[in-house]
Amino acid sequence: MKTMRAIVTERPGDYDVMVVKDVPVPPLGPRDVLVRSFASGVCYHDHLIRAGVMKRGITFPLILGHEGAGIVEAVGESVRAHRPGDRVACTQWTECCGVCRFCRTNREPLCAQRKLYGHDRDGTYAEWFRIQEDSLLPLPPEIGFEEGAILSCAIGTVLAAIRDVGQTRAGDRLLVTGAGGGLGVHAIQMARLCGAWVIAQTSSPGKVPLLREMGADEVVVSEDGRFADAVRRVGDGEGVDVVCDNVGAPVFQEALRATARGARYVLVGELTGDQVTFSTARLFLKGVSLLSTMSTSRTQLADVIDLVRRRRLRATITERFRFEEAPRVHRLMVDRKLSGRVVLVP
Ligand SMILES: [Zn+2]
Ligand SMILES: [Zn+2]
Repeated sequence: MKTMRAIVTERPGDYDVMVVKDVPVPPLGPRDVLVRSFASGVCYHDHLIRAGVMKRGITFPLILGHEGAGIVEAVGESVRAHRPGDRVACTQWTECCGVCRFCRTNREPLCAQRKLYGHDRDGTYAEWFRIQEDSLLPLPPEIGFEEGAILSCAIGTVLAAIRDVGQTRAGDRLLVTGAGGGLGVHAIQMARLCGAWVIAQTSSPGKVPLLREMGADEVVVSEDGRFADAVRRVGDGEGVDVVCDNVGAPVFQEALRATARGARYVLVGELTGDQVTFSTARLFLKGVSLLSTMSTSRTQLADVIDLVRRRRLRATITERFRFEEAPRVHRLMVDRKLSGRVVLVP
């Protein structure tokens, strides 16, 4: 049997539950594609699964990772769109039904049959990974594999949040929470591209130069977690029209307080799984809409590929690590010692 090297998470737990092992190369069903992985993005989602915070649909042992790019190695018998040798980028979901009302209207992330790789299925922390053909798009030669790996999760998600769900328009004031993270650095760029005036919030003073470089008009540093007053001050005293919230519970109260009347608050990430309580009247008295999005459709990924290929937006990889370093990478991510998005390279 053909084997491959993979980072296998044996059970939920601390960093050392991830070990490099030889495991069988996954067999292909008729619609499956085997991709040789050239880079895998590391996402906070991976940490939440490994730590046992996120539980639904997950069985161990599991190969983490839902951010992959590479070259097609082999295809199942009914695959039409791809052939061995193709460069490909992937969505965050590895399969969906293809025929429900969501799949038919470019909203595959809402499909009831949708499976995420590195979550419901084995993922990209491996030399090869298996994915359904519907979840792949050609990766043009102008985009490297490391950049290709993060197009769907780190960029597609914020394109969905800012452009589509948040309906950001030229002149809007937009707040990005957790701006120094993988979603955050791309949210700043995406918001600028949509014509917004961008306020970036971070709790790490060391990340300010990166946020400026990404195009933030204002950076609010809040080591104590209180930032609403500062955001309102730089937001013309009124607050922001759109929030792209990559953090969730820990910043929700402050970010909500920083909104202007009529704002759209878009939830994208949840780093702790904690609960929040708030008065619902606080929303409707200000006419604030609470919205959310979680991952990227095929058409949104196609738009991201075009934007990056035409250099309207830069896929920002801040560091590269070897497979063996996965436990250390997770630790650095949790300790907020990483900026932007990093990749594991097989
Ligand atoms: Zn991700
Ligand atoms: Zn479906």
